[in-house]
Amino acid sequence: MKKKTSVFISGGGIGGLTIGLKLAKCGVDVTVVEKLPGPTPVYKGELLQPKSLDILDKLNLLNPTLENGHTIKELDLVEMTSRLKEIDTSVMKYDVIPSDYAYSLMIHHEKIKEIVRDEALKYPHFHYIPNSICKGFRENYAIVKKDKKEEIHVEADFFIGAEGRTSATRNEMGINVKESIYNHHFLTVTFPRPKDFTRGKIISTHDRFLGLFPLPNNEVRSVYLIPAGKYKELRKQSLDYVYKLYTDLVPELEGYVNKIDSWKKIQLMIPLAYHSSQYVQGNKAIIGDAAHTVHPMAGEGMNMAIQDGDVLGELLCDMYGQDKLHEDNLNWFPKVRKNRVKHQMQLSHLSALAYSYPYRPITWLRRKTLSRIEEDPVLHFKQMLNISGLGIWKESAVDRLSQTGIWPLRTKINQQKKEAKLFANSDDYPWKQEGLV
Ligand SMILES: Cc1cc2nc3c(=O)[nH]c(=O)nc-3n(C[C@H](O)[C@H](O)[C@H](O)COP(=O)(O)OP(=O)(O)OC[C@H]3O[C@@H](n4cnc5c(N)ncnc54)[C@H](O)[C@@H]3O)c2cc1C
Repeated sequence: MKKKTSVFISGGGIGGLTIGLKLAKCGVDVTVVEKLPGPTPVYKGELLQPKSLDILDKLNLLNPTLENGHTIKELDLVEMTSRLKEIDTSVMKYDVIPSDYAYSLMIHHEKIKEIVRDEALKYPHFHYIPNSICKGFRENYAIVKKDKKEEIHVEADFFIGAEGRTSATRNEMGINVKESIYNHHFLTVTFPRPKDFTRGKIISTHDRFLGLFPLPNNEVRSVYLIPAGKYKELRKQSLDYVYKLYTDLVPELEGYVNKIDSWKKIQLMIPLAYHSSQYVQGNKAIIGDAAHTVHPMAGEGMNMAIQDGDVLGELLCDMYGQDKLHEDNLNWFPKVRKNRVKHQMQLSHLSALAYSYPYRPITWLRRKTLSRIEEDPVLHFKQMLNISGLGIWKESAVDRLSQTGIWPLRTKINQQKKEAKLFANSDDYPWKQEGLV
């Protein structure tokens, strides 16, 4: 069977759906093929950072997102001794950013996908084909296997690879990615939480790490760091052993974490990182995890996919709107996104290093750095801005010295200076000023 569309998207994850909705909204015919037949119980990213909330607002989806999510304005970073006595708590506040979106939001991954997909399906020129795999490409069409039997050839002007880590489009573009692996893995599981456990919380000792991120409906998503390769051995332990790992660090979880009734609910998450050298080739582009995968420590993976979808979607909308379909225009996409992605990957990598080596000097440095970030308004703003995706302000030598206490604390930061660091429309979509070919 043959089919024609303007933009073909391989992969209906959060990245593919975001760009699909953007294109549908501006009247472009778009086809999304998705391998899975329906929702999956596999955990994926659930933390929406401020820039993604801004994008969802522009897509008129902020209200349903807020209704189905749990807002997090502050994160408590708790440091404990090996004897499990609390020694320090630093609080990271999103409201140091001068923005309407000075908060993050926890939402089930399948829920946010459903919200975006349902909105897109309102447009007759948005075509969503589940249970279908993009097998590869010929000259101007994609080969899709639908329902494991029927083969469809989808002809299109542009082909977007949004298939996540195993990307048929990236393979077609002949791009190899070099994966960095880490010395640790995570157990990840969602379970009920006490009603008043509403703040994001990271608890660490010199050799333990637990991240807790409240979800709506009194649930909490947890990530517990384990040494790489330890999972098989751990799975032989009773669930009581797991409960204790959690309640040792957060006693108030007693009676809640115990609701995990099977090891099957606890998933192993193996962090890795790679960054493709190229995002665009001819009339093909890759977005989200197909182009870059990031360590999950800073909660950026899903956000980077949404932010890619926004920029490439806006670009394609303008190309169709101005009837300027030359494929060279696609190069605006890496021009905007590549450095931002690189910076967020570095942030995530550094956070991972800070929490994953069980050496006391590293623990000391982490504690010192976190309390300085809390106290120094320049460091605090930079940290939250860089995580938020709303702007970039790189660390300077003075910042590094301030983090270790060698440089005195700065006491204030000018509001105008903060505002100048936020991305403007012309940073997000520079071709609007500079023109398309
Ligand atoms: C197990 C796991 C846990 C994670 N946990 C976190 C976390 O805690 N925090 C965080 O920030 N990030 C996390 N991430 C990362 C985050 O979920 C991803 O960065 C984000 O989902 C990327 O979105 P995407 O749309 O690019 O790719 P994906 O979400 O992977 O979506 C790709 C879609 O393409 C489909 N697909 C694949 N191949 C084909 C094909 N050939 N044809 C058609 N469809 C295809 C897939 O079924 C999938 O639906 C996790 C990722 C994984 C895999």
